[in-house]
Amino acid sequence: MNESTHCDSDATAADTRGGAQMVYCRACGRQIHGSATSCPGCGARQMAADESHRIVLPAFLLCLFMGSLGAHRYYVGKIGTGLLMLVTAGGLGIWVLIDLIMILAGSFRDIDGKTLRRWT
Ligand SMILES: [Zn+2]
Repeated sequence: MNESTHCDSDATAADTRGGAQMVYCRACGRQIHGSATSCPGCGARQMAADESHRIVLPAFLLCLFMGSLGAHRYYVGKIGTGLLMLVTAGGLGIWVLIDLIMILAGSFRDIDGKTLRRWT
């Protein structure tokens, strides 16, 4: 005699333990889990925890045209190293070049240590 055992574990989807980090969707305002890459409600793309809200394009343009003034570093909030870049003429261009590559590679970090990854 074979018995088919049904193991219905009615676990509630709402996991609201203290550690769960909930955020609000930027597009529709719905509360979603912090690790969600997109909103289950409207499908809007969400920022990763280590992703900067600052965008790549202005940082790239500032670095390209005013890199030796440290302009791209002011943009990401790094005023101190921006000034240092200004007085060293962008580390004689080498530092600027490194930053430019970092920006293009998506590994340039802002003052909060978050990487700039969004282009628009
Ligand atoms: Zn949404």
